[in-house]
Amino acid sequence: MRTLIANGTIVNADGSQAADVLIDGETIAAIGADLAATGVTADETIDASGRYVIPGAIDVHTHMELPFGGTFAKDTFETGTRAAAFGGTTSIVDFAVQSKGASLRAGLDAWHAKAEGNAVVDYGFHMIMSDVNDGTLAEMDQLVAEGIPDFKLFTAYPGVFYSDDGAIFRAMQRTRENGGLIMMHAENGMAIDVVAADEVAAGHTDPYYHGVARYPIFEGEATNRVIRLAEAAGVPVYIVHLSARDALDAVRAARDRGAMAFAETCPQYLFLSLDDLGNGFDGAKFVCSPPMRSKDHQPELWAGLRRDDLQVVSTDHCPFDFHGQKELGRGDFRKIPNGLPGVEDRLDLMHDGGVVGGRISRERWVEICSTAPARMFGMYPRKGSVSVGADADLVVYDPDRKRTISARTHHMDVDYSCYEGRVVQGASDVVLSRGSVVVRNGEFHGRKGAGRFIKRTPADFVRLA
Ligand SMILES: [Zn+2]
Repeated sequence: MRTLIANGTIVNADGSQAADVLIDGETIAAIGADLAATGVTADETIDASGRYVIPGAIDVHTHMELPFGGTFAKDTFETGTRAAAFGGTTSIVDFAVQSKGASLRAGLDAWHAKAEGNAVVDYGFHMIMSDVNDGTLAEMDQLVAEGIPDFKLFTAYPGVFYSDDGAIFRAMQRTRENGGLIMMHAENGMAIDVVAADEVAAGHTDPYYHGVARYPIFEGEATNRVIRLAEAAGVPVYIVHLSARDALDAVRAARDRGAMAFAETCPQYLFLSLDDLGNGFDGAKFVCSPPMRSKDHQPELWAGLRRDDLQVVSTDHCPFDFHGQKELGRGDFRKIPNGLPGVEDRLDLMHDGGVVGGRISRERWVEICSTAPARMFGMYPRKGSVSVGADADLVVYDPDRKRTISARTHHMDVDYSCYEGRVVQGASDVVLSRGSVVVRNGEFHGRKGAGRFIKRTPADFVRLA
């Protein structure tokens, strides 16, 4: 099967060009001006006039079916990757979870079972480590060899995912040997729990106080601490879902002194704020950790994206229904499941707020949403670029079309949207995964189980730093 995408503007991280793309089977076979005129034939031609042809977006932070707070994130690998595809995202990297006391292997096997035969587009895994001990440290080496080269640890959530500094340092030392990457959820969970208990004791039980209790300085402190631990271990570190200027300052200072510190932020920290946590219990829809910050953090995060102190935007997609799930926290914000839906809307939000909003170039938009995630997480150049030999994960993107985000029309399996009613400019018209059309003009043409596990390799962080 040969498909020709004709008359579009290819947008890559390093530049744009008017050119056609020929797909042969699952990969890109040729790129050039007016390929049909040079005698190239195809089974199908997609006209991309007036539109961009971009590498499929990559979301390196999702939580399909994550167990949290006595319930599960609602999207399965089927519904979640389907929604991702509608939004132009053709690869996800989800977090497999090691349960306390169990092996990494058991957690990984469970995640493979959730995804295999269900995912619509390609997927990889990171591993959440809940225990750092001799057994799990040895297992890390094996996981790196199997294409799961990153491990997430937490300075938050005492009693659940929390690791102390010694555990974090031991895991970092191990990645120095095996080439893996430690990803950190960096908030001072011990201090947050003290403030949160004080708030509840004072009768402040609404969702708004979830945001109040998790001080930006607690994120800044933990971010600086884990970067310093990584420097001491001589390894790179990646800060997930950075939300606050305090944390960004720590990353920037580290990069300025030459440390291999990397970080992502998420659309919710660029577009939503502490104000959204108000409005009584409705604010539960916006409860995630780190929380939304006051609006004055947002311009600094955008500047961080422009200056490459933030390299990636991912979603932390972790959807819980408002009815029946978020409601577990009525009367005590500490019991609200933490997480938001987002996998479907990232590319359009970043186009609208970033490119249309004049904050980043279209090339930087592609870089943040696709190329940098591919590079950082060992998928490049197979994913993350429109180039000959790469997987034909492609999006024909209309930069002018406007759409209204709504829970009534989104494809995520969750009963609300954080962006209800927001009009965004820019939308995916045709989405291809390894050469096959998955979404065309708002209709699903993909297949459950078509997505494959992406075996990843450790990235060359010295080159990326
Ligand atoms: Zn997460």
